[in-house]
Amino acid sequence: MRTDMTEHRTACMLQSVSLPSPVGELLLSGCEKGVHTITITMETAHSAVYCADVELNAELQQCVLWLQSYFSSADSVTSLTPPAIHHPLLHTDSFSARVLRTLQDRVSVGQTVSYRQLAEMAGNERAVRAVGGAMRRNPVPLLIPCHRVLCSSGAIGGFMGGKGTEIKRWLLQHESPDHLKTPQNVSNPDYS
Ligand SMILES: [Zn+2]
Repeated sequence: MRTDMTEHRTACMLQSVSLPSPVGELLLSGCEKGVHTITITMETAHSAVYCADVELNAELQQCVLWLQSYFSSADSVTSLTPPAIHHPLLHTDSFSARVLRTLQDRVSVGQTVSYRQLAEMAGNERAVRAVGGAMRRNPVPLLIPCHRVLCSSGAIGGFMGGKGTEIKRWLLQHESPDHLKTPQNVSNPDYS
């Protein structure tokens, strides 16, 4: 576990914590108002052991519990209150923020949408590329489920700048074991 306190420029007192997961070590940071970032480090899961020897703020604690619950059974989080998010991007009126909030509120465990459908749901069906951009800027993957956004062709699309395709596939299978058994699922991030 890593814990450090740094003064954020928006005066948030950030703490961070790492925890192991089936998709590798996760690094979380957040203040007492909510989570700021979740980073999938791509380090092997057994490199870190989570232990709470330093008092984490309540929001980060809740996020750790939420993630542990998600990885033990994806469906279990549907009955949990999602952890608060305090990353500045989510608190703007930008299209990216609207896309990310829409994704979190309306695309639940086991569901997928295309980039185009998500653009439409966020109020601008022509903004498909902007949706791709919002996915790349998502500060809290897993919590805001950008892994549930696929190409309308059925291709799996991008994840973590193309490095995380296997993780995306793993997450989708974790949520819905029958998913991705169709042959057209090739990795081709065309954001269409
Ligand atoms: Zn904050």
